[in-house]
Amino acid sequence: MKLISQINENEKLKALFRADFDVPISESGKILEDFRISKQREAVEGLLNGGVAVFMIAHIAEIDSFRPIIDQLENIFSRKIYFVEDLNVTDWKVEHGNLYLLDNVRKWPGEKDNDSGFAKKIAEPFDIYINNAFAVSHRKHASVSAITEFLPSYCGPLIELETKNLERAVSSPSDGKIFIMGGAKASTKIPVVKNFLNKVESILIGGVIANDILKKRGVDINGSKFDEDFESLLAGLDLSSPRLVMPLDYNVSNGNYLDIGPKSVENFRGIVMKSKMIIWNGPMGLFEKTEFAKGTDGIAEAVINSKAFKIIGGGDTIAAVNNKYGLDKFDFVSTGGGAMLAFLAEERLPGLEALGYYAK
Ligand code: ADP
Ligand code: MG
Repeated sequence: MKLISQINENEKLKALFRADFDVPISESGKILEDFRISKQREAVEGLLNGGVAVFMIAHIAEIDSFRPIIDQLENIFSRKIYFVEDLNVTDWKVEHGNLYLLDNVRKWPGEKDNDSGFAKKIAEPFDIYINNAFAVSHRKHASVSAITEFLPSYCGPLIELETKNLERAVSSPSDGKIFIMGGAKASTKIPVVKNFLNKVESILIGGVIANDILKKRGVDINGSKFDEDFESLLAGLDLSSPRLVMPLDYNVSNGNYLDIGPKSVENFRGIVMKSKMIIWNGPMGLFEKTEFAKGTDGIAEAVINSKAFKIIGGGDTIAAVNNKYGLDKFDFVSTGGGAMLAFLAEERLPGLEALGYYAK
């Protein structure tokens, strides 16, 4: 992979820069969690100061356009952002010293279709392409995949940092390594559980994933949340493995399993305290409601107090711990949800493939 430290600053290059601004937005239009955006700032500043012209492209899922949050983005970057809303690339002014942002790249169908024509068009005004959007690298989309056919392509510092830390999670010895897996969206989580089960000391299970396993075991979980396709998702996973640690008790309300219970927290805490490497993704319960946040808080406190190398990731996991404890308590906080999980499941990520990551 070519790193941005290899860019020749004397050449006055114009860079198309894939950033990651896919953040949650409140009903009143406020950015709820700016962790991902601030992670882009350093690389952008470095390039601008080094004389590279930076034109950012990114997507956002919760709103259609970046327009209503441009002023908030400008505040986070502490500089003016020139906002570009159309695809008339010949009109795109890319002047050195200025920072540009194209509107939500997913508003053009060519993006998700990984369309070469679309990629070629947006590549036109530029000399180089830089991907700094680790969280999108599991998608085969034009702005992370097809684009690399048309411009010399560089790996941004965030992708370097993410792959370095997640490689460490994958390759560190199984002795003392644990995975804490909760949350919902079992289709992204069970493959990781399958991949890690024989490579860790324990996998601690909570959240909706635990409900899926209970259901598979024939437990009546009433109206609790579970994944419809739990049978097929869990097929092939050895549920009797001693390394798979299920909760001992639950916080059940009106028959619904909404959090892990106090005995589970104590049991998990004991395992956490003895571990050397912890990878945590997914809240233990419906943490958005205070009465069902105890499991997640208990696990957060145990992880923070342990001496292990601590990696966390996932939008909701980050939101659950950031306000109460701060992200600086962890050794590495991944900006990737799905991308982190795909990397940990040792799938090939199209965005990394396009940068030559697997060729190294
Ligand atoms: P992350 O974004 O960290 O990867 P997920 O998106 O997979 O996490 O899951 C987080 C969501 O799962 C949260 O909205 C949380 O309320 C929900 N959740 C976790 N456990 C339960 C449960 N037992 N019942 C209902 N919802 C749950
Ligand atoms: Mg989530």
